[in-house]
Amino acid sequence: MQELRKQRKRPNRYDEVGLFSGILFCADCGSVMYQQRYQTDKRRQDCYICGSYKKRTRDCTAHFIRTDLLTEGVTENLRKVTSYAAKHEARFMKLLTEQTEDGSKRRNAAKKKELEAAEKRIAELSAIFKRLYEDSVTGRISDERFTELSADYEAEQKHRA
Ligand SMILES: [Zn+2]
Repeated sequence: MQELRKQRKRPNRYDEVGLFSGILFCADCGSVMYQQRYQTDKRRQDCYICGSYKKRTRDCTAHFIRTDLLTEGVTENLRKVTSYAAKHEARFMKLLTEQTEDGSKRRNAAKKKELEAAEKRIAELSAIFKRLYEDSVTGRISDERFTELSADYEAEQKHRA
């Protein structure tokens, strides 16, 4: 998430990085929302607008939210969460732990799949290597070809292990 934020955060043409830049997405089309400033002589208004609409890449409506209202809403929400946490500390901690565990369970499952795929390929490579060796012993391939092929497979095995 931190990484994502870093990548998406981009200063606008007023050289400011918005508080919500890169973490706000349009509810209708999923596009990231961009900070935009409307300014006249008399007044200035900052808002976030749907990226699809701004760039006309997809047909989305002019979804926008005023930055001051958004900040107010988020602050209010934070206030509610922290007050809940203060009043029901144990329950809040439990919710937090559950959420973190859910996340790490999902990550572990993905890692396990990756590991299984790597192990499978290593087993395949070992089998290929063994066959190569046998072929070379029985004289079915030349020594040169054997050295060449086994170097390739060995490199791949080392890379995966
Ligand atoms: Zn949109």
